[in-house]
Amino acid sequence: MEQDVSNASSGRKHLHRYRHGIAHKDLTVAFIGNPNCGKTTLFNAYTGANLKVANWPGVTVEKVEGSVVDHGVTIHLVDLPGTYSLTSYTMEEQVSRNFILSDEVDVIIDVVDASALERNLYLTLQLLELGKPVVMALNMMDIVEKRGMEIDLHRLPEMLGIPIIPVSALKRRGLSVLLHAAIHHRDHVHPDRLVHDHSSHTRHRHNHHSEFAMVYSDLLEDKIDVIKEQLKLQYPQMFNHRWHALKLLEQDAEVTRNYPIDEKGRIVDRSYETDIINQKYDFIEEIIHEVVVNREEKVAATEYADRILTNRWLSIPVFLLIMAGVFFLTFYVGDYLKSYFELALDVISAQATSGLTLLGANDMLISLVVEGIIAGVGGILTFLPNICILFLTLAFLEDSGYMSRVAFIMNDIMERLGLSGRAFIPMILGFGCSVPAIMASRALENKTDRYRTMLVTPFMSCSARLPIYILFSGMFFPQNSMLAAYSMYIIGIVVALLSLLGMNLVEKRTQENALLIELPEYKRPSSRTVGIYVWEKVKDYLSRAGTIIFAASIIMWFILNFGPGGYGEMTNSYGALMGKWLVPIFAPIGLGYWQISLALIAGISAKEVVVSSFVVLFDGLNINSGAALMSLAGTLGSVGFTPLNAYCMMLFSLLYIPCAATLATVHSESHSWKWTIFSAVFQIAVAWIVTFIVYQVGSRIL
Ligand code: GDP
Ligand code: MG
Repeated sequence: MEQDVSNASSGRKHLHRYRHGIAHKDLTVAFIGNPNCGKTTLFNAYTGANLKVANWPGVTVEKVEGSVVDHGVTIHLVDLPGTYSLTSYTMEEQVSRNFILSDEVDVIIDVVDASALERNLYLTLQLLELGKPVVMALNMMDIVEKRGMEIDLHRLPEMLGIPIIPVSALKRRGLSVLLHAAIHHRDHVHPDRLVHDHSSHTRHRHNHHSEFAMVYSDLLEDKIDVIKEQLKLQYPQMFNHRWHALKLLEQDAEVTRNYPIDEKGRIVDRSYETDIINQKYDFIEEIIHEVVVNREEKVAATEYADRILTNRWLSIPVFLLIMAGVFFLTFYVGDYLKSYFELALDVISAQATSGLTLLGANDMLISLVVEGIIAGVGGILTFLPNICILFLTLAFLEDSGYMSRVAFIMNDIMERLGLSGRAFIPMILGFGCSVPAIMASRALENKTDRYRTMLVTPFMSCSARLPIYILFSGMFFPQNSMLAAYSMYIIGIVVALLSLLGMNLVEKRTQENALLIELPEYKRPSSRTVGIYVWEKVKDYLSRAGTIIFAASIIMWFILNFGPGGYGEMTNSYGALMGKWLVPIFAPIGLGYWQISLALIAGISAKEVVVSSFVVLFDGLNINSGAALMSLAGTLGSVGFTPLNAYCMMLFSLLYIPCAATLATVHSESHSWKWTIFSAVFQIAVAWIVTFIVYQVGSRIL
């Protein structure tokens, strides 16, 4: 009771100070919540940042910071990875937990998806026990309203004892009120207005109902009291004894290790984790029963769609069809737009040539600019429409909620391979770029799972490989170019799955996967989210064109135009010498041409460089004009390069050593050069073997 009074007065004092606008110290606010509850959207709405928002779990893998100024207070905002609980089982949970427990954080904003209140409240109850100021951002209120659902905003704060601010991060509603609440409640550790009247607990011996929202059974409360006393004796500095007591009862690894207590064996005779979880859920049920009105009004649409999209038999064919749709758009619509870029590139090349000639530049410089830089970088830029469309469709699928289903439908297969279906999420991200995909593997709870996922994720065909497919399938499979490219994506998935199978055969993994995959509601993708997503990727692509590809094109031009005998014929250049040296390795897989081996080596810097090098290799040919392509196909054909060789080229490009940026990510994630080198060698070996089989079998059949 005492606490309540002091608390109320401190609250008033605070209000007063605030109203007079007396500047006080900065405030650090941490956003925490389940995956997919809108933390990043909220963060972006405040900070104007463009962090990746996605309608599936596991995207924010690192904490991200930004700040805003409100009423003269600088507020630091921190976006944390999504988490369902604060145990110490996974890396994300540990990171989030230790961070919000640290002194750095003044106020915790618990972001809650109001349309899935029941699931979200579990984390809320845990946050309340930390003994830190918590403010709830009840997000997605627009959805709640649209569905005709109602939440009793008077009763909910009464039951939880914290301020609850209804917001919509997407529609940017309630944002300033939320910040004000955070500022007000910075010192607000003890709950106020707790009103409980659980009928089942009337004979409870403990009268904690005015202090804590979550009160456990007598058995547990007795134990908590004993442990709390013990902790107070042994660790007087500790500020949240109750939370630590609970964690000791749960036999939480980290807390048990860091805060051993005397006579622990007698009090904590077993793990009470299940009891604690169950009692939390009982309380949640009680809350939901009291505060949610019109709960029955379920979104029929999601259920209906899921009946087809996650159907046991239909789901995988539907997934393959949807991916085929993605490539249809990427190829046909993209190619149509690409023809306009071709015109532009032609004009620029011609202008540059005549301009440089006019200025009296020598042949060598003209060659460098036109055949090296413009052809190399420009060649890559012309694929921009295809890349845009690919990312537009992927963003659409992600934001609609479909991609989470893909992880769900792959769950069965993945489990048979000894992994959880969640491991498929980083793999799908790999369709975009392997770098964030590998980072996303952090969401996996188990280290073995993580390493295996990192090892196979680069097999998923990333967007940088698209130009390679477009170039080669356009030249050699003009009728079926889409099919040829689509097959690469399928082969990528199959090789990844087979590799996992192989690893599981070598070392079987039997541990149960405890975590479930969450299926968010389907929704109409937001144009802002999709826009940001595509723009980020396009920016990335452009900056690669301006840096790595630019540099690689120049280097290629040099090693192709200079040789032991100085500037001159390409066939005597350093590049040619190097390529020829590699030919014996590439010959058995149908790629025994020095130009190709050289392009593949150059492609390690970035996979698009395979194409830009190729362009430089063939004297700055305009790969966008159909005629030039046909003549190149003819040239290659005359040296025995058939469609089979072209297919092997695509295949090897798909599977071989990931690009430098990916390797760097593997290293920074694994902190091990040994592992990084192993993964590179593993991928080259798989690439060589698969291509070898295809080439050898293919050349015998065809
Ligand atoms: P995080 O995983 O918690 O960071 O969640 P995100 O910020 O990535 O958001 C997940 C999805 O929910 C995205 O598709 C957002 O566009 C959507 N979303 C976030 N906030 C709201 C909201 O207030 N209303 C609606 N309708 N959608 C939202
Ligand atoms: Mg996020």
